[in-house]
Amino acid sequence: MKERKTWRVDSLLKVAADYLKEKKIESPRLSADILLAHHLNLNRVDLYLNYDRPLSEEEIAGFRSLLRRRLSGEPVAYITGRKEFWSLDFLVGPQVLIPRPETELLVEQALAMLRKGQIPVDEKTRILDLGTGCGIVAVVLAKEIQEAFIFATDISEEALQIARQNAKRHGVEGKILFVVADLLEPFRGKDSKFDLIVSNPPYIPSDTFETLPIEISKFEPRVALDGGVEGMLYVERIIRRAPYYLKSGGWLMLEMDPGQTSRALRIMEESGLYKEQRKVRDYAHKSRVVVAQRRNT
Ligand code: GLN
Repeated sequence: MKERKTWRVDSLLKVAADYLKEKKIESPRLSADILLAHHLNLNRVDLYLNYDRPLSEEEIAGFRSLLRRRLSGEPVAYITGRKEFWSLDFLVGPQVLIPRPETELLVEQALAMLRKGQIPVDEKTRILDLGTGCGIVAVVLAKEIQEAFIFATDISEEALQIARQNAKRHGVEGKILFVVADLLEPFRGKDSKFDLIVSNPPYIPSDTFETLPIEISKFEPRVALDGGVEGMLYVERIIRRAPYYLKSGGWLMLEMDPGQTSRALRIMEESGLYKEQRKVRDYAHKSRVVVAQRRNT
């Protein structure tokens, strides 16, 4: 009788990673590790500590079906339902954009200005996160800035359901109010304005959407990415409207594509609504964030 090969964690990971690599999947080894850890309900450290653990046939079959999903283009984060951002674990699903590392620059910049007192922090501080998606920006700011109260909007109620779960998961559900909204509409005519409006709006140009990798174009929500003509639709709208919702001297902070920042600064200058505006560069020297202060009245 032919003896069956016993698959162990290490040998299975090697075969899976080679296979993903051959199929030109990005980060093949990391993807295999994350998917197997998820399937076995282990964290990555425990997976490495169990390298010689034998696997049952059911476990292998289950893992194989996850690999098939990845091969069809589905991003790892949607398969596991998780994505790390700011070293915190966030729930994600196909209703929301998968958090990108570049958004940490937006958060870092906001925190730096809040901590230095450039944006005053006390019990009256109000921050608005426009288009919160799964809630990363609002949740991190709520965790890091104890006194501030945060409003977080999204046009998608389904996205907000995930964002609410993330707020709860990280213990800040009492500090964030989630509101279904098309940008600033629900805050119109209200007296209480914001110290800071922060946003990672959709900024991919409509006509390039179909050329994006299938992981994005087929799996991520278009509403979270498609920024209309040249990707500037929401960036421009927010720039033009935000000052009416900011306190005198309040700040606007926007993530965008580095190729859009000069345009954004020009729109700000020409609007006459801001007294100071600048780009912020990331560690690769790409300007991905624009910061501007509303003119005093
Ligand atoms: N940074 C994302 C990307 O390049 C876009 C995010 C957005 O449109 N807000 O895929």
